[in-house]
Amino acid sequence: MTLIDGKKVSADVRAELKTETAAFETQYGKKVGLAVVLVGEDPASQVYVRNKIRGCEEAGIRSFAHYLPANASQSEVEELVSALAADDNVHGILVQLPLPKHLDEEKILACIPTAKDVDGFSAENIGRLAMNEEGTVACTPSGVMELLKRYEIDPRGKKAVVVGRSNIVGRPMALLLLNADATVTVCHSRTADLKAECAQADILVAAIGKPKFITADMVKDGAVVVDVGINRVDGKLVGDVDFEEVSKKASYITPVPGGVGPMTIAMLLKNAVACAKRAVR
Ligand code: NAP
Repeated sequence: MTLIDGKKVSADVRAELKTETAAFETQYGKKVGLAVVLVGEDPASQVYVRNKIRGCEEAGIRSFAHYLPANASQSEVEELVSALAADDNVHGILVQLPLPKHLDEEKILACIPTAKDVDGFSAENIGRLAMNEEGTVACTPSGVMELLKRYEIDPRGKKAVVVGRSNIVGRPMALLLLNADATVTVCHSRTADLKAECAQADILVAAIGKPKFITADMVKDGAVVVDVGINRVDGKLVGDVDFEEVSKKASYITPVPGGVGPMTIAMLLKNAVACAKRAVR
């Protein structure tokens, strides 16, 4: 069994980005720019935003951090995002979710032009992914694809099963695997026989949000198992896969923490660099 080391791959991606951002700056006389908007004081969001800004600094990306109070009005947030949309130094815009309840998330996200949608959440970017056209893809599923690539796991012709169909993980994950020529099954809470579906997978991706939900009896011998889940149990991070038992059957497996998690920010930075390159092309 090979343990897929997300920390190492993430560090490799970031180091490569540093070279790319330096080359961009030399060629175009400005840095790749990423704007991060945080509304309110949610402690988890504050940590995510801090990590994203630190990631930018390390990768040679100029970050534009904007903090609005929790009682910011809809028009205040929309005006800020629209101003960032018009700023040529900003190549990507990220609005940290969730937003305070009184705000209309959809309307605010609609102020981000597709070209600056670093999260790949817009309908146009999802449509492009569905049509296998170039665009920005959500960070977590593209992080999974990067892990597979770096470990030379080619999905072509393989049977891939994705458990979870959320817009930010499961759905784009399934489309990416399909675009990589896997034969893809998407499972969810209404799937009739989840165990039978999972047991067929050469590549099994769990994005459910339930600790240790995927057990060894659901996994084929030699399967590649990717655990996207992040659950907090008794103060510890636990994935959606019963790592201890499943790792005895898997050929490759991602740990939690240290697997998919570290890839998300690396892919966000990679998306920002790709947006900047497209903007000058
Ligand atoms: P989500 O929006 O809650 O979606 C969960 C999915 O799992 C849904 O499609 C749901 O089916 C399915 N599901 C729930 N119970 C199930 C069951 N008993 N059998 C089969 N399917 C079931 O969650 P998410 O945002 O996709 O996140 C999934 C997990 O990934 C969470 O643990 C989250 O913390 C983690 N995550 C990690 C990262 C990272 O950076 N590594 C990023 C994002 C998310 P229905 O659609 O039928 O309800």
